[in-house]
Amino acid sequence: MSNSSIIESEEHTALRAAVAALGRRHGRGYDRETLWREAGKLGYLGVNLPEEYGGGGGGIAELSLVLEELGGAGCPLLLMIVSPAICGTVISRFGTDEQKRQWLPGLADGTLTMAFGITESDAGSNSHRITTTARRDGDDWVLNGRKVFISGVDIADATLVVGRTEDARTGRLKPCLFIVPRDTEGFHHSLIEMELQAVEKQFELVLDDVRLPAGALVGDEDAGLLQLFAGLNPERVMTAAFALGMGRYALDRAVEYAKTRQVWQEPIGAHQAIAHPLAQAHIELELARLMMRKAAHLYDAGDDTGAGEAANMAKYAAAEACVRAVDQAVHTLGGNGLTREYGLASLITAARVARIAPVSREMILNYVSHQSLGLPKSY
Ligand SMILES: Cc1cc2nc3c(=O)[nH]c(=O)nc-3n(C[C@H](O)[C@H](O)[C@H](O)COP(=O)(O)OP(=O)(O)OC[C@H]3O[C@@H](n4cnc5c(N)ncnc54)[C@H](O)[C@@H]3O)c2cc1C
Repeated sequence: MSNSSIIESEEHTALRAAVAALGRRHGRGYDRETLWREAGKLGYLGVNLPEEYGGGGGGIAELSLVLEELGGAGCPLLLMIVSPAICGTVISRFGTDEQKRQWLPGLADGTLTMAFGITESDAGSNSHRITTTARRDGDDWVLNGRKVFISGVDIADATLVVGRTEDARTGRLKPCLFIVPRDTEGFHHSLIEMELQAVEKQFELVLDDVRLPAGALVGDEDAGLLQLFAGLNPERVMTAAFALGMGRYALDRAVEYAKTRQVWQEPIGAHQAIAHPLAQAHIELELARLMMRKAAHLYDAGDDTGAGEAANMAKYAAAEACVRAVDQAVHTLGGNGLTREYGLASLITAARVARIAPVSREMILNYVSHQSLGLPKSY
């Protein structure tokens, strides 16, 4: 994709080129751990985190650019969506000084990783229904509950768990965030078998009387929702970057193939039935990318409300563009689209993730119907 300096600064273009070069060196057959370590050492995993804690002092604009370029080279790092983007953001904005000192330098250079757990099987898209509860016991907190589909718990040093505490005045449960180190007693994770060929796995979590010190609570007990939302906008922008990278990777493979594969007088790319859907996929990815930049820009400028709408729209647009680009790429390769050698068919499943997580296509349409258009709610 072209990058006019009017739309993208020279620094961003240079960062994009450097990350793309790293991605090309690793390519589709990448080893996650090696790439994570290397990207961390080069400062790419912490570009959004504060400089005083070893980060790059940039924002989600830079971090999303890194993830998009790695994905474009066929080697996306899914945990960038959770570790530096959600957890890094929430801790740097709301964490205690001790939490910042303990976690941010490691999240920035990749030596520490943090997963993020909000989803529960009985709540699903309606996260207001989560039932993982935290009760005070002296100075400690005791957590009980279950989570599903939590990515990377096996790799992560800790999981940022969304639980609920009881409001002393109203008795109502309110969301709260806790850092739960992987080896904490009572914190169990078990693998969920997925039909996904991905280097990061998903887990079910059981929190069985997990006892945590007071310092495990992130930020203010009364500002849980605000803190949670602060992490969710970066998550959406980063999921858009993940989808865009994958869509671009698939499209590039299809274009290469369409230029050389010849079964009549001309390469198949000369047939408009092949060329036009590829052109359409390119346009849709480029449009989604513009919206992603808008969302990142608003977020980094401190406009959480404006970023909320744009991040939802960017995630929606990028996921849809990715699903269509991957589908067309597989089709362009004919039978080869389904071979292990070309490695595109597995992206069909992978592309669907961006349509479902972290918030589904329908929930974004609900959000836009209600928040942007002011239409009435059906639920
Ligand atoms: C690969 C992968 C990785 C994940 N990683 C994480 C992670 O690290 N941490 C984490 O917390 N979660 C994670 N998730 C969970 C993910 O965020 C949820 O799957 C997602 O929020 C949807 O919830 P659900 O699966 O329960 O679907 P449901 O809420 O059961 O929805 C099922 C379907 O019903 C539709 N639907 C539901 N309500 C409405 C409505 N009101 N109007 C219209 N349609 C509706 C949905 O759009 C969807 O199509 C991951 C999921 C996947 C697949």
